Amino acid sequence: MAGFPDPLKRLIDEFERLPGIGSKTAERLAFAVLRGRPEEAKVFADALVDAKKKVMSCATCSNVATSERCDVCSDASRDQGLVLVVEHPRDVVAFERTGRWRGTYHVLLGRLSPHEGAGAEALSLKALEARVAGGKVREIVLGTNPDTEGDATALAIERRLSGKVPVTRLARGLSSGGAIEYAGTEVLAEALRLRRPAIGGG
Ligand SMILES: [Zn+2]
Repeated sequence: MAGFPDPLKRLIDEFERLPGIGSKTAERLAFAVLRGRPEEAKVFADALVDAKKKVMSCATCSNVATSERCDVCSDASRDQGLVLVVEHPRDVVAFERTGRWRGTYHVLLGRLSPHEGAGAEALSLKALEARVAGGKVREIVLGTNPDTEGDATALAIERRLSGKVPVTRLARGLSSGGAIEYAGTEVLAEALRLRRPAIGGG
């Protein structure tokens, strides 16, 4: 049976490796590339290679960066004593949109499942503990997503930092189960403003 020519098959396969892309969508994307002009394909390919080459992890907070420190960590006007802990760089962008957070961030690059003690090592928790041990952090704000895994992650961090630094959590203005990256800027600003001491850390 005649299938797609090999170069097309390869392109479809590459799209299909991306998260959330099934075979039908991969085919549609590949045909869209074929329909475009050659220079458009070149711009697309260059963007892929360029992003991979130039975007790195901030040495302090693990946010996306184009040098050793991200834009937030290298901004002298930001309060280094306040650290908002989030799951993903997308959440940093969501909180930055509010224009209300003058502290810094710590990006976990993941979350914990409620029944998995393991997995904590994959998160950037050691780097967070090192920042706290540095003595300059006055408050840790837990800004994980308001769902089961986000809450489990927040609890694990609370326990690790308990007694070492004041830990607060976002106010419950966020709809339960909703994701921070999709929350409105006013909702996020209020959740930050009305943050309260974390409990459960013991
Ligand atoms: Zn940073």
